[in-house]
Amino acid sequence: MFKKILIANRGEIAVRIVKACRELKITSAAIYSEADKNSLHVRAADEAYLIGPSPASESYLNVDKILTTAKEIGADAVHPGYGFLSENGDFIQKVEDAGIAFIGPSPEAVHLMGEKTSARKLMAENNVPIVPGTTKPLESAEEALKLAEDIGYPIMLKASAGGGGKGMRRVYKPDELPGAQNESLKAFSSDEVYIEKYIEDPKHIEVQILADKHGNYIHLFERECSVQRRHQKVIEESPSIAVDDKTRQAITTAAIDAAKACNYYNAGTIEFLMDKHKNFYFLEMNTRLQVEHPVTEMITGVDLVKEQIKIAAGEKLSIKQEDLKINGHAIECRVYAEDVDNNFAPSTGKIIMHKLPSGPGIRVDRGIDLLSDVSVYYDPMLAKVVAHGANREEAIARIKRALGEYKILGVITNIHAFRWVLEQKSFLDGTFDINFVDKEFMPLLPNKWKSVGAEHYEKVVTILSAILKAKENKLKAVKLECTSKNIWDKQKYE
Ligand code: ADP
Repeated sequence: MFKKILIANRGEIAVRIVKACRELKITSAAIYSEADKNSLHVRAADEAYLIGPSPASESYLNVDKILTTAKEIGADAVHPGYGFLSENGDFIQKVEDAGIAFIGPSPEAVHLMGEKTSARKLMAENNVPIVPGTTKPLESAEEALKLAEDIGYPIMLKASAGGGGKGMRRVYKPDELPGAQNESLKAFSSDEVYIEKYIEDPKHIEVQILADKHGNYIHLFERECSVQRRHQKVIEESPSIAVDDKTRQAITTAAIDAAKACNYYNAGTIEFLMDKHKNFYFLEMNTRLQVEHPVTEMITGVDLVKEQIKIAAGEKLSIKQEDLKINGHAIECRVYAEDVDNNFAPSTGKIIMHKLPSGPGIRVDRGIDLLSDVSVYYDPMLAKVVAHGANREEAIARIKRALGEYKILGVITNIHAFRWVLEQKSFLDGTFDINFVDKEFMPLLPNKWKSVGAEHYEKVVTILSAILKAKENKLKAVKLECTSKNIWDKQKYE
């Protein structure tokens, strides 16, 4: 087993990896940028190394500096977390060339699945259903026009190197094509653009897999991630209310086939779109740990990060498919530092109050603590609140309770917006799809939505100001930009 793991990431996922290291008695080494010197991951890890200035390009994406640090401190493995360098095949190759283990898949698998057209081609060759469309980059606008005609509008024009919900455009008719294509090209400085059929109102269903370096593959069931804003997930759960046993059998088999097709090892996720008739289509494979991995951990009892580390160390999978079963239901809400009422503007500042939820079935994976700085430099996700229950109803009740208990002061968060989602009929009956937020929530903004708590606004601000005043002596330098928006347990404050 490894002795020291360098964690090439920050925030909640770096903290999550520290916990796995500690349980496995491995020394954890954090890296951090100047903006992150007060961050929780720096305090949580056994060792922490300043890697560079605040911009990610000079710190968390600085391949040379990270490699030099790993060598200098005697790390024998690197965990990339998600984002940053996690799906950078060249980085993985460099880590391995330096004689350090990479906790993730092979660089070949990452290259193959990271390029969306080559991934689609490979899947089609291995009988994994793909979204109808092209499997090689378009060569000209004329070709795009012809292929779009064949596939049938509406279509999705996508950049092959796309990610993070960027670089895709719905196209309804031919004259929208060339303009949309230019935009995709610009967004990625890549001319690799392809066409997919636009699937109407599908669900986003993905399958977690684990594979070792000895050819053993297991799946850990599906996650439902259809609550999205701008193609970015906001709430995830497992299992999916829309997946029956027959579909589960078929989609998990397809996921294992997908992983085998690229000789995959370590943890990975195969994403699918599923239509109303339960037809599912391969979307892409994420060759890393996912943000939403806790919901799978909660229903299976498997620690995915520890499994990742053991696989990278060459161990065989200790879990067999037949040992796994779905235990209850889990839901995760992603807490962002953003002002929902103000066009989701990022909110920055110092955390001056942090009261965590607790109680049965609750887990919070967080990157913040009291006095942490939330800066403009990185992803605004602060924490993930996860609830487990005996069934979906209990999981929902628990996550609502936990979100009510969670109090963050110093930045504005989206916590209050979850209450709305968690009470909507289509969410509760499971008929929601990937357009749920756009169709049902966005039209409420800003005015109708704001009015939800407006009558209590003044009262809550008065109380919060009093709390802040009490802290003032200690925290003179803090700009107090709190609002009532973190508080949606109205009665409590009346
Ligand atoms: P990214 O790599 O940027 O995350 P994906 O291909 O995984 O992009 O798609 C992200 C989301 O965009 C999906 O979850 C879905 O909501 C939407 N989407 C992508 N492709 C299609 C499609 N062909 N039809 C309908 N929606 C799509």
